[in-house]
Amino acid sequence: MNATWQILLGNLAITALAISLWSHAYYHTRALSERRRNQAFGIAMGLGAICSMMLAVPLDQGVFVDLRYTLVAVSALFGGPFSVLLTIVIASVFRLSEGGSGAIDGVTSICIVGMVGLCGYLIVRRRKVRLADAAVLGIAVSATLLVVMSLLTSQANARAVELVGFPITILNFLSIVIAAFVLIQFERMAHDRDILSAALTQTPDFHYVKNREGKFVIVNKNVAEHHHYPSPAAMVGASDFQLATQRRAEMLHAEEQALMESGRSQLDKIEYLTENGQERCYSTSKVPLRDRTGTVIGLAGATRDVTEERKIEQELRESKDLLSLAMAGMSDGFAMFDRAGTLVFSNTQYASLFPLSGEVRVPGTNIRDILKKVVESNERRDFRQDVTDEWLSEASAALFFDKDEHIELHDGHWLSLRTRVADNGMALVAVSDITTMKQAEFALRTVAEQMKSLAETDALTGLLNRRAFDHAISVAVERSRLERRPMAVLMIDVDRFKAYNDTYGHPEGDECLKAIADCLRRTMNRPQDVLARFGGEEFVVLLPDTDETKALALAEQFRQTLLARAIAHSGSEYGVVTASIGIAVKSNWKQQMRASELVLEADQGLYQAKRDGRNQAVLWSPQRTSRAAR
Ligand code: GH3
Ligand code: MG
Ligand code: MG
Repeated sequence: MNATWQILLGNLAITALAISLWSHAYYHTRALSERRRNQAFGIAMGLGAICSMMLAVPLDQGVFVDLRYTLVAVSALFGGPFSVLLTIVIASVFRLSEGGSGAIDGVTSICIVGMVGLCGYLIVRRRKVRLADAAVLGIAVSATLLVVMSLLTSQANARAVELVGFPITILNFLSIVIAAFVLIQFERMAHDRDILSAALTQTPDFHYVKNREGKFVIVNKNVAEHHHYPSPAAMVGASDFQLATQRRAEMLHAEEQALMESGRSQLDKIEYLTENGQERCYSTSKVPLRDRTGTVIGLAGATRDVTEERKIEQELRESKDLLSLAMAGMSDGFAMFDRAGTLVFSNTQYASLFPLSGEVRVPGTNIRDILKKVVESNERRDFRQDVTDEWLSEASAALFFDKDEHIELHDGHWLSLRTRVADNGMALVAVSDITTMKQAEFALRTVAEQMKSLAETDALTGLLNRRAFDHAISVAVERSRLERRPMAVLMIDVDRFKAYNDTYGHPEGDECLKAIADCLRRTMNRPQDVLARFGGEEFVVLLPDTDETKALALAEQFRQTLLARAIAHSGSEYGVVTASIGIAVKSNWKQQMRASELVLEADQGLYQAKRDGRNQAVLWSPQRTSRAAR
């Protein structure tokens, strides 16, 4: 390798040194404004250019070849106009002071390369510089230099091109790319460091790193401020022995040494410390730090003031306790299910009200599993035996509808379940034992039914009474009208009954009425037939779906049955108890008719039967009535 190459490579090293020195200083210049930083960069590159020129390859008298252009171009590309101006001025002043025949050409070249670099800056200034940009700039600068060197008239330059044109072009290109690579890398590292530092200093927590001896190596702003240090840097080297009481410092030291020795982490350790007369709560995590070989070299800690959080937690816990206490004191069961159907809160009564599924009615169980248990244990009387997935899904979904239910358990107990869905989608269930209430309800219902039947029955004969008959006939008329079916009413009156009473006594009279009721029952015994005591010794029969022929036949059948009984009656012309029957039949529903009219017609038929000599049935018809009236 000849001397020219050696010097040029040395020059390349100078360029690299200038860039790397700047890069090391770079982080400290982050505090400056952008313009200031660019000016500092320009000065640094200018000084680098001087160093480069000092190690130049001297050609002819007063002509030097070096890599000053690299630093000028990089100054422009990364620092912009303020930077490159300073670099040009510094480099030019030095070059002029060196003198020689190539001085003016040298300064001209410096200015031209500066302009080329500035063009590059203007093209990429809206974004971050990339390595490709630097490569393009390197080519542009190299080409420019070749052109400049060949155009400038000085004899020396012409020789320079001839002698070192090629190596200088290659080296300039290479050194621009290398310098740009280093600067881009450092900018990226500085950016990452900025983020890390912002994360560390701006979090509300306390972050610190201690070395193996327990001395602070890094602390964030909060730690420094908390311990009244002017800056995080000022706290480096301090230990807990300067910050806390001897006892606490010893305790912390022992604890941290133990952590570092064991290599284990301490997570979220809660400590209550009194500061300025106020108790505060801190949560601390400490993690041992290891070097590449795995040796523990220190410990990273993060401490958070959780006083407020704890207070809220405490208040929440207290209100929950109060709620539980209130719930425990009630006689009803209470349960809360979340939107997924999982039981999240319940009192003990809730579980104990369900004797067979109580064990699964605890927080954490899903309604599906509770229902499954209910079915398997046969706890509810209204639940089916075969449990399918589909049924379980349907029954579980039913939890999320407002409803009030009364359910009967296997042992005869009754529970009331009131379900309400809250705004947040949770289902709230209140359960009460209503067995006593249900028993009272059943007893009342039985009594009411008994009373109803008493109110409707004639005590002597067991037939319906007049009131019940009135109701029954109005219903029957309406029904027959709708169905367009005939219906008959029989009005029955015992013949010469006054005389019977007079002869045999009132109690015998009552027995006689019972016997007549019995005859009626035997004759008209379809379920839909209605038999009633109309009053005194008069009976009325309502025969739905019965026409005139059938009604006459039934009346006759009854008359015969009574005759066959042969109840002696000396006061009667027939010698036995007989009855007269008036029949009214309604089969033409085209005309409206009220129940009372039908009864009246039957009564007129009965009147006719009495007049015609008793012990007979008379079917009422308009003609006969008019004749009777005559
Ligand atoms: P007729 O053939 O015209 O019907 O003659 P009758 O004697 O039956 O005349 P009426 O229908 O007016 O007689 C009614 C009698 O029925 C009067 C009363 O003594 C008797 N009676 C009414 N209710 C009862 C009762 O509950 N028990 C008894 N033993 N007799 C009753
Ligand atoms: Mg009578
Ligand atoms: Mg009578």
